[in-house]
Amino acid sequence: VLKFRPPPKKTFEKVIDDIAQSTRKHLRDGHDRVSNNKMIVRYYKRYAKEQKDPVLINKAHNVQNCFKYITSDTYEMQKVKNVTKCTLCHDYKFCANCLKMIQDARINKYMPMLRDKQKYLYHMTITNPNCSEEMLKRDVAKMSECFTHLIEILSCKTKIKDVDFKQYNFLGCIRSLEVTYKSNPKHSECYHPHYHCAICFDLDDESVIDNKHIKNVYSRDKKNPDKITLFSDFEVLIQKLWYLIWHGISVTKKNIESQKLGYSCKVDRFKNKDAVEIFKYMTKVTDEKDRMMKYEHFKALYTALYRKKQIQAYKCFYKPADGDVSKNDIKAVADEVYQQILDYLNEIERPKQQVDLISDLLEDARQYKIISRRKLLKRHLKVLE
Ligand SMILES: [Zn+2]
Repeated sequence: VLKFRPPPKKTFEKVIDDIAQSTRKHLRDGHDRVSNNKMIVRYYKRYAKEQKDPVLINKAHNVQNCFKYITSDTYEMQKVKNVTKCTLCHDYKFCANCLKMIQDARINKYMPMLRDKQKYLYHMTITNPNCSEEMLKRDVAKMSECFTHLIEILSCKTKIKDVDFKQYNFLGCIRSLEVTYKSNPKHSECYHPHYHCAICFDLDDESVIDNKHIKNVYSRDKKNPDKITLFSDFEVLIQKLWYLIWHGISVTKKNIESQKLGYSCKVDRFKNKDAVEIFKYMTKVTDEKDRMMKYEHFKALYTALYRKKQIQAYKCFYKPADGDVSKNDIKAVADEVYQQILDYLNEIERPKQQVDLISDLLEDARQYKIISRRKLLKRHLKVLE
């Protein structure tokens, strides 16, 4: 149990200085990120005009105002501004700023769980054939249904006669959707939806995944023609399973055996850098060759990803929000410290509420110490890491 004793006044000044520093960085970074949103705002406006859809008009407006107005309590004499609110658009698909915030939140939530399961952890990528703009929405929706089916088989909820899935001891999984695309939006194979998964198996015999000895058409990579990737029996099994499920062919021992080739899937030991793949964006504002997203891409992705969840957790990774006791303890302590800082400031003067443009507030940062509750909490959470 964490105990809190009121610190001496000097400590308050030190804490205020510390949070002011990280708050300033947070504001500056956010400001930089939203300045990259201009193209997305233009696309939303154009799409809104075409569709005459009030939802899209709102979206354009929200993305345009993301991280633009900051409300703070200003302590004029002490030259401190306490940020209480900022406008956010909550567009986690296209807004660079909100995307970063949700990534941070996800890493905070899932990293301790991944570390805890490191011993059993693999990185699995599941790929479908590329698709056209017209098929993207259907394919993304279908992938999610098929994945549920795959999980049911792996967790032995759906049993396959004479095929032993128990031996893999599936513990749980976090799956993350990503859609990349080619520069020509009219290309019949323009879009490449795929899943990155952090997946856990408690194997008696780890060689079922580690022993890679099978060569097939997926062994060669166009981008890297000299490299040959070999697959394990388990990977080939997943490749075939995904093919059968995708085409609605019943998963039986006979169908698995007679299926010559599946879809491209890989399962490898989880490396630290794989976490980035899992928690990054659902789609990028640049194509496979780093050229900016075209308006046609934007429309197709907006439609296909509308109300789609990027991250889905299963079994050992499935935890209801705010279930972490030690984090909640820290939160309570941070709240308490924050209240004491405010009491300390309030003792000298009453603050005045003010709404600033972020650009003005950043100018103010030369004269004022800008603080926020969020940054204090971060400072406390660091103790945990
Ligand atoms: Zn935003």
